[in-house]
Amino acid sequence: GFWRFFKLGVLVENDPGKDFVDVGEGLLVEIAKALKFPVASMLPPEAFTVLRKSFDARKSQKEPKFVYTVEMDVDKLLSLEPRTYDFISSLEPKIGVIEHVPYERTVGDLVNVINDNKKIKHDKVPGENGHSGSLGSHNKPKVAVVGSGPAGLFASLVLAEFGVDVTLIERGQPVEKRGRDIGALVVRKILQSESNFCFGEGGAGTWSDGKLVTRIGRNSGSVLSVMKTLVRFGAPESILVDGKPHLGTDRLIPLLRNFRQHLQEIGVNIRFGTRVDDLIVENGHVVGVNVSDSSGSSQFNSKKLGFDAVVLGVGHSARDVYHTLLSHNVELVPKDFAVGLRVEHPQELINSIQYSKLANEVRSGRGKIPVADYKVVEYVKGEGNGTQFTSQRSCYSFCMCPGGQVVVTSIDPTELCINGMSFSRRASKWANAALAVTVSLEDFSALGFHGPLAGVEFQREFERRAATMGGGNFVVPVQTVKDFMDNTLSATTLPSSSYRLGVKAANLHELFPVHITEALQHSLSTFNQELPGFISHNALLHGVETRTSSPVQIPRNADTFESMSLGGLYPVGEGAGYAGGIVSAAVDGMYAGFALAKRLDLFKGDI
Ligand code: FAD
Repeated sequence: GFWRFFKLGVLVENDPGKDFVDVGEGLLVEIAKALKFPVASMLPPEAFTVLRKSFDARKSQKEPKFVYTVEMDVDKLLSLEPRTYDFISSLEPKIGVIEHVPYERTVGDLVNVINDNKKIKHDKVPGENGHSGSLGSHNKPKVAVVGSGPAGLFASLVLAEFGVDVTLIERGQPVEKRGRDIGALVVRKILQSESNFCFGEGGAGTWSDGKLVTRIGRNSGSVLSVMKTLVRFGAPESILVDGKPHLGTDRLIPLLRNFRQHLQEIGVNIRFGTRVDDLIVENGHVVGVNVSDSSGSSQFNSKKLGFDAVVLGVGHSARDVYHTLLSHNVELVPKDFAVGLRVEHPQELINSIQYSKLANEVRSGRGKIPVADYKVVEYVKGEGNGTQFTSQRSCYSFCMCPGGQVVVTSIDPTELCINGMSFSRRASKWANAALAVTVSLEDFSALGFHGPLAGVEFQREFERRAATMGGGNFVVPVQTVKDFMDNTLSATTLPSSSYRLGVKAANLHELFPVHITEALQHSLSTFNQELPGFISHNALLHGVETRTSSPVQIPRNADTFESMSLGGLYPVGEGAGYAGGIVSAAVDGMYAGFALAKRLDLFKGDI
């Protein structure tokens, strides 16, 4: 077939609005304009597909506009409207079209194949929460998937679709109960150590911003497949097309319920409130797990469960699991990550920095144009800033949440760390983002932390310092950006913060070693040149952001995904050091599912 892509700039006033997945009349007029085709009504909408829509408000543009990437199926166009023939044949030089390149067949496409495969029969399992009974067949391989974050959910999905007897073990609670626990934390400061912003159904990504941006190739079959699966469970179709897809917590919760229901329907035994405390190892191979009731309802104390393999998708806040792995001599390697502070501005300020006059069109997420975000990065030389460090660092904005709020992601009240979340409309009056500085082994050892968990100890050190500076009870130490630049304590009347558990003025220079503070200061002044107004008395820095990505990697075989040091163990997702976000964790879990299915002789294809 003759497929052709082209880009199309549409001014804000001409944009057909949010309903852009199907090509409607409004967009067809713009397509005709871009193609210089005289009669828009002659173009059949079925011949065009929107592949991507993004908003371009860069200062280099004359006027901000929406940019659509549109695919034109020339064969279809000609079969529906042959009168366009002459026009089409003269088109190429005008709009610089490119030939259609079919997506490479990837594991992601295979998920669609098995989802459609009617031959796989599943024994339907009634019930919920791990009381769903046996699958009826004892010949099926038995696999435990530990953790119901994106990695664990997608690994379970793939394995169950192949007919594996999957038990999904999650220390936290299903989203309904987890929502109440998070409410108690935010309103009454009661932290449930096993059901919070990090632990529970959907993993760390549930009460999050739900940004679905990823650095692993937006158009790859595997990413598209994850996105399509999310759509199947209730995400809006626009995430397949949106340049910066975003869900928000309110959309994630029903999506996860649908995901759960589907997993149960295809036979996955889901055990919430159940924590894996240990691995059972025989002859260098995992043969099961020791679990205990983490729900507090004392259904049982400790139980041994036998499995043929264990997929470990526990995220990077489950520090206890790293210790368990070390006790079985599983190799863990410390890795570089980044630490810093979360900066929060009034959303209106960011809108006006980014959009100037057009800022009024944002209307708290109800207008046509998206609530403004930003992405900044600066490289800071190690030498010359008065330290012994020679390596170059980067300081960058991370996990930017427009219209969001700052939340506490501690799982222990003596440690304080924060992150950002939002709802789908991004309607809050604040914009927050982490400003993170890269750190490496050099930094860990400078503070006396060595060995495989040096990075974890490094994180913990600053989380404890932040808790002390805040005075306890999850109160967060803060300083305005202006005062941070001037190294002075902020006055008692602070700008408002979205953080609900309380803030306290502190000098954040006392938190990190000087080279990290200086890297932040230096970068802030550069960011202020790019985004004039970024350094402001109304911008508030919150401490501390430590869990930007995993401080540890669990080495595994690149083809089989099996741990290099323990047979039958399949480390996946962010906690294993192979992902950094919702989509990449989901993709990793999916690939691991295929690799294990292959190992179990259930799948013969290439991965
Ligand atoms: P996790 O999601 O961490 O899931 C691990 C699961 O394992 C947890 O549910 C945990 O309870 C369970 N578990 C741990 N130990 C055990 C045990 N011993 N026994 C049983 N179960 C166990 N990423 C984005 O891409 N976009 C965003 O907008 C975004 N916003 C975020 C906002 C917040 C507040 C946070 C905290 C994170 C955010 N992230 C975001 C990061 C994203 O959530 C993670 O990268 C992703 O969830 C990692 O997936 P995972 O499956 O590897 O692990």
